[in-house]
Amino acid sequence: MTAQTTHTVDAVVIGAGFGGIYAVHKLHHELGLTTVGFDKADGPGGTWYWNRYPGALSDTESHLYRFSFDRDLLQESTWKTTYITQPEILEYLEDVVDRFDLRRHFKFGTEVTSALYLDDENLWEVTTDHGEVYRAKYVVNAVGLLSAINFPNLPGLDTFEGETIHTAAWPEGKSLAGRRVGVIGTGSTGQQVITSLAPEVEHLTVFVRTPQYSVPVGNRPVNPEQIAEIKADYDRIWERAKNSAVAFGFEESTLPAMSVSEEERNRIFQEAWDHGGGFRFMFGTFGDIATDEAANEAAASFIRAKVAEIIEDPETARKLMPKGLFAKRPLCDSGYYEVYNRPNVEAVAIKENPIREVTAKGVVTEDGVLHELDVLVFATGFDAVDGNYRRIEIRGRDGLHINDHWDGQPTSYLGVSTANFPNWFMVLGPNGPFTNLPPSIETQVEWISDTIGYAERNGVRAIEPTPEAEAEWTETCTEIANATLFTKGDSWIFGANIPGKKPSVLFYLGGLRNYRAVMAEVAADGYRGFEVKSAEMVTV
Ligand code: FAD
Ligand code: NAP
Repeated sequence: MTAQTTHTVDAVVIGAGFGGIYAVHKLHHELGLTTVGFDKADGPGGTWYWNRYPGALSDTESHLYRFSFDRDLLQESTWKTTYITQPEILEYLEDVVDRFDLRRHFKFGTEVTSALYLDDENLWEVTTDHGEVYRAKYVVNAVGLLSAINFPNLPGLDTFEGETIHTAAWPEGKSLAGRRVGVIGTGSTGQQVITSLAPEVEHLTVFVRTPQYSVPVGNRPVNPEQIAEIKADYDRIWERAKNSAVAFGFEESTLPAMSVSEEERNRIFQEAWDHGGGFRFMFGTFGDIATDEAANEAAASFIRAKVAEIIEDPETARKLMPKGLFAKRPLCDSGYYEVYNRPNVEAVAIKENPIREVTAKGVVTEDGVLHELDVLVFATGFDAVDGNYRRIEIRGRDGLHINDHWDGQPTSYLGVSTANFPNWFMVLGPNGPFTNLPPSIETQVEWISDTIGYAERNGVRAIEPTPEAEAEWTETCTEIANATLFTKGDSWIFGANIPGKKPSVLFYLGGLRNYRAVMAEVAADGYRGFEVKSAEMVTV
């Protein structure tokens, strides 16, 4: 047996996406803590390192899908279109890492396999897949909420002679031009990859399980004058976004949909359709689409009419027609429905004609048809929010395993901490805000860093939430979610997309403005809801 060297640092950060990059910057450069970051990816970027599928694009506008913490960075970075593509976001995040000289603090290609709390020493012992051991007082988990891949195990998949690719593990530069491709999944990812692949592949078979409501994204080129205008007004733009609910930068409507005539309603929907943007359509048109069934149905039927208008073949339109509530994270696309008018694109409705098995040559559906394929693409999403935590052996106080702690449902206090896991913080943990994510990530990283700074200045050895505070936060999130229609739709937002996963509330749907206010109050109130132990009290 080889002896292992145990490294000692102040803080370990897991993940090198927006969250991990900013956490390492704050802890190292601002608090002066020795900090090591890990990512199993071979470079920074997180979501944008992994999701290199054709068509990958933000649905947050370019000027708001970035960090806001550094004015020079805001002024010096740029963009080409109203929405920003995966290669550009990846380049941006790589530049941020280099700009702040963070690369030397990260160990890439390194997976954290366990994090065990050593009660007697008030330290975390973190082990990697290379067998390295790090001891640290603090662990910041920035492991991503849409990162742990969901790869359904279809019968016979191992006999398939073609290639299988999950969109979140897309090989760099991989082209499927001229091939016969099948895509499973028609969520945000599926729609993007389908729209992008359709013109270049020989044949595209789309296996549609639940058609979703989608509106145009409205991506347009921007000129230098438009960019300069935004940059001149950036302080106000960020202020407004951070003081809104979903932080997407548009004015959120408070107008009830049924308070205007049908003609006026359709005019407002049409205007939003022409402008583009999924969140804008849901939250910028009327104030009650996510909460009132009649308002929701008005929006849903507007989109259904568009689907019927766009897709020329009525039978194909039927297969793609969304039904029921418009109550998932809203989708937007770059000509998704139009794709089905192409002669090389075919929709297979797998609720009525399920996939029977995968064979050497392709996918066989219940009607006995073999859909011959060279490549099968899985756009089947993620084991969201708690998925990556459950893939690490995490043990808190008294050896409590995170999976046992979260047995009923994943919980947190404020989305950033959980009882029995001292000095252990989460970025976008369970019951964090549901928004354009970079400003929420910044809010959480800044709060975590301020808390660690407070602990360091005040001789605090251990800080963790009380079970009561955690239960209360869970209750708050549940109450807010139950006041919306979102709880009535099955989606990853409630963990309903993973077979065997118990659906539960995973987000604080109270908006970023309210969330930021709560976070500030808790800190100002002497870390209300936290048990803060000083060095003397916990020394054994
Ligand atoms: P991530 O970027 O997911 O980074 C987490 C990192 O942790 C990963 O690199 C992973 O490899 C690493 N990791 C996890 N576990 C371990 C471990 N055990 N050991 C080592 N490393 C580990 N949000 C928006 O607000 N707007 C958008 O337009 C938008 N578009 C999206 C498009 C796609 C295709 C996807 C999948 C998500 C999108 N999101 C969007 C959500 C997006 O995930 C967040 O905006 C943001 O990028 C999350 O950053 P993060 O740092 O929290 O996590
Ligand atoms: P998703 O929304 O969970 O969609 C997964 C798709 O795969 C659904 O159509 C689902 O069908 C289908 N599916 C899953 N398992 C299946 C199975 N066993 N058999 C057949 N079909 C199956 O995942 P996603 O599209 O990757 O999006 C997740 C989130 O990532 C988005 O909501 C968004 O937050 C983010 N994202 C954003 C963008 C963007 O626009 N910027 C792009 C991509 C992703 P059912 O609906 O029937 O379950």
